[in-house]
Amino acid sequence: MAGLHFLYKPENQLEEGGRKSAPLPQDAGEERTCPNCHGSFPAEAVRANGEVCTVCGYHFRLGARARIALTADEGSFQELFSDTVGSDPLSFPGYGKKLEKARAASGEREAVLCGAASVGGHPCCLFAMDSLFMMGSMGTAVGEKITLLFEYALEHRLPVVGFTVSGGARMQEGLLSLMQMAKTSGAVRRHSDAGLFYLTVLTDPTTGGVTASFAMEGDVILAEPGATVGFAGARVVEQTTGRALPKDFQKSEFILEHGFADAIVPRGDLRRTISDLLQYHSGGNA
Ligand SMILES: [Zn+2]
Repeated sequence: MAGLHFLYKPENQLEEGGRKSAPLPQDAGEERTCPNCHGSFPAEAVRANGEVCTVCGYHFRLGARARIALTADEGSFQELFSDTVGSDPLSFPGYGKKLEKARAASGEREAVLCGAASVGGHPCCLFAMDSLFMMGSMGTAVGEKITLLFEYALEHRLPVVGFTVSGGARMQEGLLSLMQMAKTSGAVRRHSDAGLFYLTVLTDPTTGGVTASFAMEGDVILAEPGATVGFAGARVVEQTTGRALPKDFQKSEFILEHGFADAIVPRGDLRRTISDLLQYHSGGNA
C-alpha cells in the first residue's frame, strides 16, 4: 500500500482521539486501582457499583455487554445485526491481525453492539460501542450496523438510545470509514423526520468522526462525568491554534457549559434518567 505509510507516523492521531488506545484498567487479582484517587479496592465492590470508584466516583470504562446489562430491563435485550462484521477492504497492512486481536480482547465481533430492548418497560433500540474493540473506532461495519439499527427503529417506530465511545474513524479503512459519518447521519435524519426520539449518552472517550456524526445528533445528549468528548485531540487543537487550552478542555463538564450536552448524569442514575426520557417522549403511549 504505497502512499499510506504516513498513517504510521505517531503524530497523526487526529482520528485516534489524539492518543493511543491505552489499555483499560484491569483487575489486578481481586484489587482494582482507581486512576483518579489511586486507592485500591476489591474488584467485586467496584463491579457491583457499575464500575464506578466507590470512593471518588471515577467512572471506569465499560464494555458494550456490561453497558447493555446495566441499562436494559433484564432479559429484554435481543441482539440485531451481529452478522455484520468488518473486512479489510484496502488490504491495509496488519489490519486483519488487529481485528483478530480486537475480537479476542472485547469478546465482540465488531466495535458496536446493537439490538432491541426495553428500559423501564419502554421499548427501544439500543446500541453500545466497545472501547476494547480498537477503541470503538468506526469502520464500514460499525457504520452499517448503526444505519441498520436506525432503519429498524424507523420501521418499528421505536426510539433509539445509544452509548458512544470512540477514537473516531477507523484509519485502516480510509475514506470508506469517513463515509460512515454521512451514511449514519442520513439514517439518523430519516428517523428524526418520522418524529422518533434519539438519545445519546457520551462516554469516555467520544472523539473524531463519531463525535462529528451520530454521537452529537441526539435529540437529547447526556454525558457521563469526566468523559473526554471532542473532535481532534487536545494536543492537535493546541498546536493548531497556538493557544493554551483550559484545564477541563473536552471534558463533559466543559462541553455542558458550552452547550454541547444537555446534562451530565452519573452512571448510577442513567438507567432511571433514560427511562424517564423515554416516557416523556413516548407521546403518552407508553
Ligand atoms: Zn477513585
